[in-house]
Amino acid sequence: MKIALIAHDRKKDLMVKLVTAYRPILEKHQLFATGTTGSRIADATGLPIHRFKSGPLGGDQQIGAMISEDEMDMVIFLRDPLAAQPHEPDVTALIRLSDVYEIPLATNIGTAEILLRGLDAGFADFRDVVHEGDRRPISI
Ligand code: PGA
Repeated sequence: MKIALIAHDRKKDLMVKLVTAYRPILEKHQLFATGTTGSRIADATGLPIHRFKSGPLGGDQQIGAMISEDEMDMVIFLRDPLAAQPHEPDVTALIRLSDVYEIPLATNIGTAEILLRGLDAGFADFRDVVHEGDRRPISI
């Protein structure tokens, strides 16, 4: 599975804690991240992780592009609901594309833990249950 990890600044410590705690699960998968989030994770864990540009410089959109190409399977996006982001349109676009392509998306630590435990339990592709393997966006 290809998993994208993104955290706004005040959530980056929490992301490092999450990845450290769930390392046995995450290390079995291919990890991607926006620039600064990826550096923090790599420095703290040593896990291999593909780093895109920093979020405000286009990293969110690069991950969105992967989603639209059906190249991303899960997104953990620890967003900060209490701080305005200069790239808010990109944040909204990424969340929207996750919904268009029905990619499992966690925007807080509670849902992130549920998704990772689901992944570990073998729920590899949540969409397959309803769509029976048809991976096209539901609106098409
Ligand atoms: P960053 O980007 O990991 O480069 O800080 C995250 C974001 O704000 O989208």
